[in-house]
Amino acid sequence: MSRTLFQTSVAGSLPKPAWLAEPRKLWPDWKARGAELDAAKRDATLLWIKEQEDAGLDIITDGEQSRQHFVHGFLEQVEGIDFAHKVKMGIRNNRYDAMVPVVTGSLRLHGRVHATEARLLRAHTTRRTKFTLPGPMTIVDTLADQHYGNRQAMAFAFADLLNQEARGLQDDGIDIIQFDEPAFNVYMDDAVAWGIEALHRATEGLTCTTAVHICYGYGIEANIAWKHGLGEEWRQYEKVFPALAASRIDQVSLECVNSRVPAELMGLLKGKDVMVGVIDVATDRVETPEEVAATIAAALRHVPRERLLPCTNCGLAPMARDVAIAKLRALAAGTQLACTAA
Ligand code: ZN
Repeated sequence: MSRTLFQTSVAGSLPKPAWLAEPRKLWPDWKARGAELDAAKRDATLLWIKEQEDAGLDIITDGEQSRQHFVHGFLEQVEGIDFAHKVKMGIRNNRYDAMVPVVTGSLRLHGRVHATEARLLRAHTTRRTKFTLPGPMTIVDTLADQHYGNRQAMAFAFADLLNQEARGLQDDGIDIIQFDEPAFNVYMDDAVAWGIEALHRATEGLTCTTAVHICYGYGIEANIAWKHGLGEEWRQYEKVFPALAASRIDQVSLECVNSRVPAELMGLLKGKDVMVGVIDVATDRVETPEEVAATIAAALRHVPRERLLPCTNCGLAPMARDVAIAKLRALAAGTQLACTAA
């Protein structure tokens, strides 16, 4: 039931099966090693391709089954980073502590990072595909630096590596390459000053569709507490959206349902495709198709119908598997309903 109107997708991550990694954790330990782990990652990726198709989604992802965490999955293939001596660091402006690796020298890619899962995805669906990479600003906010001494310089260095991998993903046949930049909602001035320029470096020369995902984070406790302190209206997007509207990035993914983001801020993204979050990842309560359709209808007051792509607010990685599947179905069923009404 593929539609041309309102193409649906998830923001990126999906839960890992319990036989692949510890469930319901943001930084889970793998359950296997070596060739056994490689096979398990492949099986989990195939499983989620099938679940997304069966749910009725239009744009399919690998569900990030091959990476332990959305940032460190990329970093593990980068030379110049010391993973053996991680340090504790407050990230996202000290919202929470994480054990992070340290940049100790010039950065270089060992080779392709995500070729295996990207090719697997391309080979096993005929639908459009999306692949996610961490954004340069979010990367520099998720590791310690003993080499560059300057966040912008380090972000630009990472952007060049991301560009190298993104070109490879495009050659693998991926249709949409999305950069995840939750840090844009934390460092709004830096996002405008150099964050978008770093994204431009990361997308240089790409002819496929490009996207950026900006959210208020996974549905974990530290994020929920942070959101409670943000006040009645969340206006973080107000600063970054006009700059993104003027950028070369094609699509912007944002948090919408159950958030305190004023809906009219979506109107600042003129000329861009808008991936509207119609599924809440911070609650196990599954949205009804009617609720999803109502969120789409509300967004249509600010986004032209040919520019609206229903999506999840953020990744579903820390959720229970059955809840995530139910939410995928709600996303597709609610969009179908909105389509009939539109
Ligand atoms: Zn997110």
